[in-house]
Amino acid sequence: TKFIFVTGGVVSGIGKGISAASIGRLLKDRGLSVFMQKFDPYLNVDPGTMSPYQHGEVFVTKDGAETDLDLGHYERFIDEELTKGASITTGKVYSTVIAKERRGDYDGATVQVIPHITNEIKNAVYKAAKESKADVVITEIGGTVGDIESLPFLEAIRQIHSENKKSDVLFVHTVLVPNIPGSDELKTKPTQHSFKELMSNGIKTDVIIVRSNGLVTEDLREKISLFCDVPVEAVIQSTNVDLIYEVPLVFHEQHLDDYILKELELEDRPASKGKW
Ligand code: ADP
Repeated sequence: TKFIFVTGGVVSGIGKGISAASIGRLLKDRGLSVFMQKFDPYLNVDPGTMSPYQHGEVFVTKDGAETDLDLGHYERFIDEELTKGASITTGKVYSTVIAKERRGDYDGATVQVIPHITNEIKNAVYKAAKESKADVVITEIGGTVGDIESLPFLEAIRQIHSENKKSDVLFVHTVLVPNIPGSDELKTKPTQHSFKELMSNGIKTDVIIVRSNGLVTEDLREKISLFCDVPVEAVIQSTNVDLIYEVPLVFHEQHLDDYILKELELEDRPASKGKW
């Protein structure tokens, strides 16, 4: 199994979930099987108890888990039914670890964020891979890089990267490139800061997905490529679309699926050839 981790930078709500789901769609269209999961940094065990005014509606999986509404996007994009293993919250991770501690499973050890919490997070990723038997597991990390709450998740995915082959793990980072009203200039500084923040957590992104009101020109892509140490072809614009289901097409036009297949050393499944 290959692993893709999608993180978000600069601000929330820029389409990290849609980007993750779109990547899932593209890989499925290349004939690969895909499983998706979402990590949420909040302390609720699941969103079932959260006000819909705060968090939108709950999405219920076929095995009865009350999960984040992003899972609904995932299912609609990848056309696969997901299970409770697709939704992991900080609350869920902590309650599992504390239950184990009470049972004496840790055999007297001092229970700590690293390694006990991070191990539980890693288990959730590896378990999803084992149970789904998917070619690719795509994991979206909720929140924005730099949040205190998401640190254990970032540490866990860093460890997954270091304990697997380089060609088995891919990091995708979504950012906002704002434009200054009046001068209409697009600014890459927040992207540079976000890249650095991610680096300070030991994660070097392989792909940057840019949301912006303006057109990300070749010059701008080159600049982002230079500062964020990714090839120009790995700087992808998520153009504003009227219908979110167009996002996979937007990515495909920029050859994101080819790039991911190359980086993860994956082959298309022949049956899917010529689908586009
Ligand atoms: P995040 O996961 O970063 O919080 P989401 O993926 O949930 O963000 O997207 C936030 C909102 O932005 C959604 O309502 C989605 O429909 C919209 N959106 C995402 N990507 C695009 C895009 N390329 N064009 C237009 N709207 C988009």
